Amino acid sequence: MKENRMHNFNAGPAALPLPVLEEIRDEFLNYKGSGMSITEVSHRSKWFDEVINDAKSRVKRLLKLGDHYHVLFLQGGASMQFCMAPMNLISEGQSADYVNTGTWSTKAIKEAQIQGKKVNVVASSEDKNFSYIPRDISFTMGAAYVHLTSNNTIKGTQWASFPDTGGVPIVCDMSSDIMSRPFDPALFGLIYAGAQKNIGPAGVTLVIIREDMLNRVPENLPAMLKYSTFVSKNSMFNTPPCFAVYTCQLVLKWLEETIGGLENMEKINREKGAILYDVIDNNDFYRGTAEKDSRSMMNVTFRLPSEELEKEFVAEALENGLGGLKGHRSVGGCRASIYNATGIDTVSVLVEFMKEFARKK
Ligand SMILES: *Cc1c(COP(=O)(O)O)cnc(C)c1O
Repeated sequence: MKENRMHNFNAGPAALPLPVLEEIRDEFLNYKGSGMSITEVSHRSKWFDEVINDAKSRVKRLLKLGDHYHVLFLQGGASMQFCMAPMNLISEGQSADYVNTGTWSTKAIKEAQIQGKKVNVVASSEDKNFSYIPRDISFTMGAAYVHLTSNNTIKGTQWASFPDTGGVPIVCDMSSDIMSRPFDPALFGLIYAGAQKNIGPAGVTLVIIREDMLNRVPENLPAMLKYSTFVSKNSMFNTPPCFAVYTCQLVLKWLEETIGGLENMEKINREKGAILYDVIDNNDFYRGTAEKDSRSMMNVTFRLPSEELEKEFVAEALENGLGGLKGHRSVGGCRASIYNATGIDTVSVLVEFMKEFARKK
């Protein structure tokens, strides 16, 4: 099976662990003796109940979340959270702090503003084309929350550690680095992540909300846009994206049982990042686009001497079974997304290809 699979550097939807895909295949026609596919059973059945509850428990164990955190599986992508977070969590007369570190933060800010919410953009790296993570930020005392994007998928930057916000809860878009490393959950009031980068297929968004944040949810919101609706219904107010949740469950199981948790996952991710940045730093042919202390361990962005060569690089890589290396259409250049499911072996193949390509040119 492995032989004809591509070395997958897609930014999202992205690679999934091969053992997970094999498990899905093996039980696809007859899920645990039910005589049905998991895509055919009721979301009210004992089979799906077990799936969603197991997925929730695994999220809690992997992230070491206390019982005052609720784990939800929602729809609408991370983009829906850009609107839901301010709608639910900024009360009348309050404002929220946002740090603008790229395309996704810019969208999050806009979605809060169009609702008439007061947004303080307390820091931005737009002055240098979002190539760094701002430091020494003054946050607003009494703000509803501080919004951060932990990893900037398009620009290739990542918060190495989270800032001290003076007790103001952080609301964080972790779409492209959730489960890639451990962190202290106590800083966060809300975490959200579209699944399709690091934990599953498109169609489901993982949302983690702290109990006290629920007190802010206004009564008069539509049910589908209220966090409290999904907390009280175990994410099943309406039909959830069953197959996406099931795939996430298997990825989370792989993370716990095969990888051995987030400390191990982080070690592997650091090693992958190190060998890739090493070839970029030690070869005049390649130039990393993010400042060194802001570099992402998930999305490695780089340029070649010309756009012509970049095109050639992406095409020749593909001929050699390495796919998904084109940078985001808004920025150009090249990008290797090396999420959890992309192994060191795959990154090593890329590194060898990069060395050889540079040598030939
Ligand atoms: C991909 C991505 C998004 C958008 O996610 P959707 O699920 O497509 O809405 C938002 N934020 C970050 C950081 C992303 O990487």
